[in-house]
Amino acid sequence: MDIQAALKKGQLILKNNNILSAKLDSEILMSEVIRKNKKYIVLNLYKEIEKRELEYFINLIQERAKRKPIAQITKKKDFWKYEFVVNNNVLIPRPDTEILIEQALKLVKNKNRLQILDIGIGSGCILMSILKEKKNFIGTGIDINSKSLQISKVNSHKLGINNRLKLFKSNIDNFNTGKYDLIVSNPPYIKTNDLKCLEKDIGFEPKQALDGGLDGLSEVRKVIHKSSVLIKKNGYLIIEIGFDQKEKVKKILLNKGFYIKETVKDLSNHDRCIVSGKI
Ligand code: GLN
Repeated sequence: MDIQAALKKGQLILKNNNILSAKLDSEILMSEVIRKNKKYIVLNLYKEIEKRELEYFINLIQERAKRKPIAQITKKKDFWKYEFVVNNNVLIPRPDTEILIEQALKLVKNKNRLQILDIGIGSGCILMSILKEKKNFIGTGIDINSKSLQISKVNSHKLGINNRLKLFKSNIDNFNTGKYDLIVSNPPYIKTNDLKCLEKDIGFEPKQALDGGLDGLSEVRKVIHKSSVLIKKNGYLIIEIGFDQKEKVKKILLNKGFYIKETVKDLSNHDRCIVSGKI
């Protein structure tokens, strides 16, 4: 079978399973199987693929047909300027979260040797993207899940920043180490009851990274409280929030002695990030 026929076959299976991005996903998985980029695929549509490649391709298509996210099948996801290793123990980096990097870089433009803390580091995409841009910053990442810390460790080595990063397995309440110039966090902020209404694909991601309790804010409150203790004078906290949480989170921040520097919308024009500071 040639590449084009295999692509069509994959696309059809995905379409029959109501995957909207059937064509794109089929191409991405083909590219994964034959280890060539999209350009190669377009230029070699009539090239035969080996039987075992076809079998592997159909296997991957079948995983995707069951709604497993592409990033979990290929075990990687591009975020900011880098490629991160992911698996089902970490939240897949979202393009919207890149807003946090933009805001962080704006704040620390002329700064040197800052200490940054990421609460709930997951894959590491937030903290590590900042560390890559700022060569003399030092990072600390905590996560409650040791399996996700394994992934952040892998990513820190892959990106060559492991010598500037400390990782701790800790729940937020028990972490009391250090003082930080900048704290970043994308905590779980989805209401428990809303979790089941989300797209099926999201069911493959760790619930712990998404579930924000009954009102969606139970972890956000903890992050803000802990940040108020661990932040240095004149430090900043940048936090990702749900589209309808801006006012509530602002209130929590003000209560803990932060001032609101900026709120930022995501690509779909939803409130997605609050930048706050401590005097
Ligand atoms: N933005 C993510 C989603 O909607 C949620 C991430 C989170 O809870 N931190 O899938």
